[in-house]
Amino acid sequence: MTTSMMAKFRVSATKPLQLSAIATDDDLGWDKSSQKGELEKVVGEMAFEQHRLMAEAKQSLLIVLQGRDASGKDGLVRHVMTGMNPAGVRVTSFKVPAGIEKQHDYLWRCHDSCPARGEVGVWNRSHYEDILVPRVKNLVGEEVWKKRYRHIRDFEQMLVDEGTRVLKFYLHVSHDVQRQRLQKRIDNPERSWKHDPSDLSDREIWPKYEAAYEDVLRETSRPHAPWYVIPADVKWVRDLAVAKIILKTLQEMDPKVPVPSKDLKKIIVPE
Ligand code: AMP
Ligand code: MG
Repeated sequence: MTTSMMAKFRVSATKPLQLSAIATDDDLGWDKSSQKGELEKVVGEMAFEQHRLMAEAKQSLLIVLQGRDASGKDGLVRHVMTGMNPAGVRVTSFKVPAGIEKQHDYLWRCHDSCPARGEVGVWNRSHYEDILVPRVKNLVGEEVWKKRYRHIRDFEQMLVDEGTRVLKFYLHVSHDVQRQRLQKRIDNPERSWKHDPSDLSDREIWPKYEAAYEDVLRETSRPHAPWYVIPADVKWVRDLAVAKIILKTLQEMDPKVPVPSKDLKKIIVPE
């Protein structure tokens, strides 16, 4: 089941990608009442695998989250990563580069935020912003941002070669659901702090972002670091789909709890 869902959502490197042809409200045939409790179950299994990942301390998992404003990146971190041991999870939210970040190449801050052995790294936005934003806002010429597809493919290949699994999710939300969520956020005094004027200016250039995302997803979805386009209009479907893919990946990584070097049966803890 999860395997066929992954195949359905995985972005092909060779076929054209048209985001508007992919449903944002796909429910995967899941029925809300029969799926009740399913997320908790999957999150529990993720926690079990993560415990073994930490104990093994050899492999890492990097989860990249991209998507429009209000597509649910923060919500997903809250609902899906919640069961894992925080000691082994590193969440990084990438903002507009500032200070020392601007004095370095764009991958510098990303490399520094990669998960160590045994860790799960979650990137809320990522190095992909360094292609999308300069392109849609004409901050640098095409000759600069186009090379970044190759840099990023090679960077991710290096991470994989050195023991990191890379999973990338594009949370696919519709124009109208984004409007509803941004409005709700503005109207709610508990959540209005999250409103950023750039949310509205970015929304104005929706088609430019759409084209930029289509290119970036296709140019950088490779077997070693695939992109999954996740329908994100329905929050519980979004969370469950991503959780299932993370769980399946952790199970494939199959981390092994180290076997003690000594025969523990002979060890008695003194009174
Ligand atoms: P948010 O994730 O909504 O809190 O906002 C973060 C903002 O930082 C978004 O508008 C991103 O587009 C922007 N951002 C993140 N990384 C970069 C980057 N490398 N270059 C330009 N803007 C970025
Ligand atoms: Mg924002």
